[in-house]
Amino acid sequence: MTASQQDYSAGAAFVAGAYVPIAEAKISVLDWGFTRSDVTYDVVHVRDGGFFRLADHLDRFERSLAGMRLAPPHDRAEIAAILARCVALAGLRDAYVAMICTRGRPRIFGSRRPADCDNAFIAYAIPWIDVIPKDVQERGAHLHVASIPRTASASVDPTIKNYQWGDLTRGLLEAHDRGADTAVLLDAEGYVTEGPGFNVFVVRDGQVLTPDRGSLEGITRRSVLELCDEIGLPARIAPLRHEDLLQADEMFCTTTAGGVMPVSRVDGHVMGNDRPGPVSARLKALYWEKHAAGWHRTPVDYTDPDR
Ligand code: PLP
Repeated sequence: MTASQQDYSAGAAFVAGAYVPIAEAKISVLDWGFTRSDVTYDVVHVRDGGFFRLADHLDRFERSLAGMRLAPPHDRAEIAAILARCVALAGLRDAYVAMICTRGRPRIFGSRRPADCDNAFIAYAIPWIDVIPKDVQERGAHLHVASIPRTASASVDPTIKNYQWGDLTRGLLEAHDRGADTAVLLDAEGYVTEGPGFNVFVVRDGQVLTPDRGSLEGITRRSVLELCDEIGLPARIAPLRHEDLLQADEMFCTTTAGGVMPVSRVDGHVMGNDRPGPVSARLKALYWEKHAAGWHRTPVDYTDPDR
């Protein structure tokens, strides 16, 4: 059976050098990516048949790989082609597209040396995901400020995209126990960092602010800062504390898997009229309008190379 004859309707993956339907994508239980979270990844989205900021995601993936001393067996151009092929096989016009490099398994049985491992590359494309569901974005997400501090940046560098989600998952569980939609974490010194899968912004007195520490340098965050610049909204990366959340006029979260996602409550603080604020709504609308106009777009080639 050629790759194009499989059923990729739920998504397509590239694992161990071959394309497979997403349900068949598997890794070894001995891969250090699994046993030690010794892995880095990136996620780019496809909207209406085009990648958004593909070059920026590949740049960040390369920085993460270098930071982890990982080297996948494919170069940048091959990775870009593999991602596009996954999207095309699945026939997805809107997709969540992941690229992953695991440490892999040691070539020498029992070795504990990372240098003895053959690094493995995995990619997949699945239908669009919203980290905060669309109906929740409509009314504005309710955020809980987690009691669990974000893992120290000196221990796990948050600018290297990672699966070391112990703190974020505990925050999410705590948020759900409290009836909130999701969480935002502070660091051990009480500074605001990020949430499980997104950066955060506050709007206060017409200023748009996002934390300067403990968080991924999000590509959606960068897009929002560019949009603010374009429309003349003062915006900056700054230290933010718990009080800044409780005094915010508005708040929103940003991620590849959802875009600009408004918040209406943080802990007990209800913002505006308990609905997405005007600045958040404007930036969200502009973000998607610019997508439709081809902003940072790389079209996906859907022609089947097997035919
Ligand atoms: N912070 C974390 C922990 C994330 O996992 C993500 C995205 O998955 C983000 C922030 C947002 O980054 P980006 O806008 O590049 O998707």
